[in-house]
Amino acid sequence: MKTADLTGLPPGVPERLESEGIEELYPPQAEAVEAGIMEGESLVASVPTASGKTLIAELAMLSAVERERGGKALYIVPLRALASEKKAEFERWEEYGISVGVSTGNYESSGEWLASRDVIVATSEKVDSLVRNGAPWISELSCVVADEVHLVDDGHRGPTLEVTLAKLRRINPDLQVIALSATVGNADEVAEWLDAGLVRSDWRPIDLKTGVHYGNAINFDDGSQREVPVESGERQTAALVNDTLDEGGSSLVFVNSRRNAEAAAKRLAGVTDRALTRGERNDLAELAEEIRGVSDAETSDALARVVAKGAAFHHAGLAPRHRSLVEGAFRDRLIKVVCATPTLAAGVNTPSRRVIVRDWRRYDGEFGGMKPLNVLEVHQMCGRAGRPGLDPYGEAVLLAKDADTMDELFERYVWAEPEAVRSKLAAEPAMRTHLLATVASGFANSREGILEFLERTLYATQTDGRARLEQVTDAVLDYLEVNGFVEREGGSIAATGIGHTVSRLYLDPMSAAEIIDGLRAVDGDPTPLGLYHLVCRTPDMYQLYLKSGDRETYTELCYERESELLGSVPSEFDDVAFEDWLAALKTAKLLEDWASEVSEDRITDRYGVGPGDVRGKVETAEWLLGAAEQLAGELDLGTSVAVREAKKRVEYGVCEELLDLAGVRGVGRKRARRLYEAGVESRADLREADKSVILAALRGRKKTAERILENVGRRDPSMDDVDADAAAGGTTTGGRPGESRGGGEDGEGQASLGDFR
Ligand code: ADP
Repeated sequence: MKTADLTGLPPGVPERLESEGIEELYPPQAEAVEAGIMEGESLVASVPTASGKTLIAELAMLSAVERERGGKALYIVPLRALASEKKAEFERWEEYGISVGVSTGNYESSGEWLASRDVIVATSEKVDSLVRNGAPWISELSCVVADEVHLVDDGHRGPTLEVTLAKLRRINPDLQVIALSATVGNADEVAEWLDAGLVRSDWRPIDLKTGVHYGNAINFDDGSQREVPVESGERQTAALVNDTLDEGGSSLVFVNSRRNAEAAAKRLAGVTDRALTRGERNDLAELAEEIRGVSDAETSDALARVVAKGAAFHHAGLAPRHRSLVEGAFRDRLIKVVCATPTLAAGVNTPSRRVIVRDWRRYDGEFGGMKPLNVLEVHQMCGRAGRPGLDPYGEAVLLAKDADTMDELFERYVWAEPEAVRSKLAAEPAMRTHLLATVASGFANSREGILEFLERTLYATQTDGRARLEQVTDAVLDYLEVNGFVEREGGSIAATGIGHTVSRLYLDPMSAAEIIDGLRAVDGDPTPLGLYHLVCRTPDMYQLYLKSGDRETYTELCYERESELLGSVPSEFDDVAFEDWLAALKTAKLLEDWASEVSEDRITDRYGVGPGDVRGKVETAEWLLGAAEQLAGELDLGTSVAVREAKKRVEYGVCEELLDLAGVRGVGRKRARRLYEAGVESRADLREADKSVILAALRGRKKTAERILENVGRRDPSMDDVDADAAAGGTTTGGRPGESRGGGEDGEGQASLGDFR
C-alpha cells in the first residue's frame, strides 16, 4: 500500500510522508489501514519494537481530526520523558493545520488551554487527573491512542492506564481506541476488552538474529555461528563490542543496575577509545563539555569522562538533558556504545547494530533476590537491534558462561513466547485511589454502580467471577469511609468535600490520611524537616533505600530531632514500620539539605543518588506539600503558612532569607546567595541597589544582570557603562569581574538540577 494512495488525511500529509522516505506502508501498517483505523475503527496493534507503530497512531489521529471538524485525538505515553519527545515528533503536522499540545506539569489543573489543540500528548496519570478535574474537552475526544498498552501489566502504574481507558470509553462510547503493544501472549484478550480489531504480526523492517555468546562464538537462532573470540583476561562484553566496532557498528549493552551501567561504560570506554578518529575525538570532547555543563553533580562528570572516549551510560538517574544528548550522539554514531538499564528499552528510539543483554537477572526486593527478566522485557531490548537502512540485519546477543546456561537462555528467552498481559487492578493500593476518583468524578454512586463500572476493565475481561472485585471494593470502601473521604447513606455513596479535594489533588487517599493526621498532631509551628518527613512517609513518595550503616545514622538523627517529627516514632521492634520511618527520614534529610543550599554534588554524593533522583524527590515533595497546604487550608488546621514556606524552600533550594530573591526568574539558588552576601537581600534591593554591586555579585555577567533586573521590574535595567564593583563581589567569587570564565559558564549551574528549571 502506497502512502500516496491514502485518503482521508489532511491535504499535504501523504506528500510529507513520502518526503520522509515513507513511500510504502510496512505490512502491519497496511493491515491496520485495512482494518479501518482511518475510518474510526478501534484496533490493537501488537507488533515488534521499531516496526512503525507510531505511524499507525498518526494515521488514525490525523484522519480522525480531519474527518470530524473539531475532532480531537489524545496520545497517552507511558513515561513523562516521552511526552515531549512525541510532541516534537507530531509538531511536524502543524504545517498541515494540526495543532499539538503536551500536558505535563501539575496534577491539579484542568488544562483548559488544551481545548484548542487537535492532538494532545500526556501520560496516563495526567489524563486520569484531567478527568478528575473535569477537563471539558475530554468529552470531545474522537480518538485515543495508548502507547505500550502492555504496561497495564505493571503493578505500579498499570491500573491507572486501565482505569483511564475505561473512563474515557465510558464518557464517550463511540471513542476510537488505538492500542499499541509489544508482541504479547494475549493480544486477543486486550482487543476483546477494548472492543477493538486486532493486528498481530512478527514482521520487522530489518531482520533480527538472536543468539547466545558462549566460548568463542555467538550461536544464533537460525543455526548460524559467528566467531567472536575472547582473549584471556578479556570480558565477553568487551570482545563483542570490539567485534562490532571492527565493522563500524555500535552496541547497546543492557545491564541490571545503574551502578553496573556506569561501571560497564567505564570499562568499555577503554575499548571504544582505541577506535576513534581524530575528528570524532574532537566532537566528543565538545559533547563532554556540554554534558559537564548540564549539572555539577558527580554523575555529570562521570558521564563526561566516558563520553570523551566514545562510551556512555544511560539510566533514570540522569538529567533529561543528559539523556537526550546521549541518545542523539548515539543515533549520530558518535557514541559507540551505550550501557543502559532497561529504561532505554521502552520507547526511546535508539537502534543499534548489536544489542548485548549482559544481565538477564535483576534484584527484586519483593522477590527477595535475583529474579529473571520477563521474556517481554528481553524481547524489547533485543528489538532495539538493527538500524533500518544502515545495517544488513540486527544482532541481539545474550551471554553464557557455560553450556547449560546457554541452553537455558535459548529456552527461556530466544525460543520463548512473551508472557500474557494480566491486569493488576484488584490490588488495594490501586483500588483505593481509583475507587475514590470513580465516586468523586460521578462515574458511580453506589456499590452496584462501582462494580458495574469495574466491569469495563481488563480485570473483568480476564476473570470470571466478581468475587475478588467485590471483596476488594468492600474493603476499600470501608477504608475510605473511616477516613472521611466518602459517606454512605442507604445504598448510595458520595464523596465528601475533602474526598473531592483528595481526588482532584491526585493523592493516594492513604497519603492524604497520613498528611491530615500528621498536621493534626502538630503542636506549634512545624519545621521544614518535620513537614518533609511527613510527606516522605506517604505512599506517593519513593523513599531512598537504607544502605548498610544507615539504620544507625538515621536512628540517631531520629531521636535527635524527634520533637520536629509529626506523629510518634514507631516502636523499634516493629521492624517494617520503623525502617519505613527511617527511610522517610533519610529522604526528608535530602530535601532539607537541598533547602539549606547544600551543593548538588554533595547531595548526590552523600545519598548515593543521581541528579535525576534529586530532581524527582524535589518535584514530588513540591506537589505533596502543595497538596498538604490545600488540605490544611480546607480543614482549618492553621499550618498552611509553614507548609507553604517549606514548599517554597524546597522548590528554590534555598534558606529562608533567600526566598524573596530566589523567586525572581533567572536568579536561582547560587546567584541569590551571592547577591545576598553582597547586601542585595530582596527584590526591592534589586530594584534600588547600586548596579555595580549587583553586577559584581553576578560575576560581571551583564546580560544575566540585565535579564534579572528586567524580570524584577527595575525601571532602567541596562548595564551599559556599569563596571562591577570589585570590592562588592562577595566572598566566594572566583572569576574576575567583567570577564566570563571558560566556556561562557559562570559556574552558576543556575539550572540547579540539570535542566530542571
Ligand atoms: P515503534 O514505535 O514500533 O517502536 P517507530 O514508530 O518508532 O517504531 O518506527 C521506527 C522507525 O521506522 C521510525 O524512524 C519511522 O520513521 C520508521 N518508519 C515507520 N514506518 C515506515 C515506513 N512505512 N517506511 C519507512 N520507514 C518507516
